[in-house]
Amino acid sequence: MTKCTRCGSSLTYKDFSNERHYAALRCSKCDKFIKWLPKPETILKNSQNNELIQKLLESSIINDWERKFLENIRENKKLSPKQQDCLKSISQKVSDI
Ligand SMILES: [Zn+2]
Repeated sequence: MTKCTRCGSSLTYKDFSNERHYAALRCSKCDKFIKWLPKPETILKNSQNNELIQKLLESSIINDWERKFLENIRENKKLSPKQQDCLKSISQKVSDI
């Protein structure tokens, strides 16, 4: 549960007024900024990635380097475009067979 560090309230609301971020989570009581919230699409993408990585790791045709790469990115919440590409090419290799 997210709690406000200023007043201890756990009541929060989403503030969509910032253009550079999807939303800010703020305390409903004292309006203190708590954290930025990721886009719903980003969360969805991450959970899809995790499922995909798990599936690929169970595949027997990936090589040691690919296995290491997958185990490595599984720990990361956010992938770089290069890592995303690499994940995509491994998944294509697996699904081609
Ligand atoms: Zn507060």
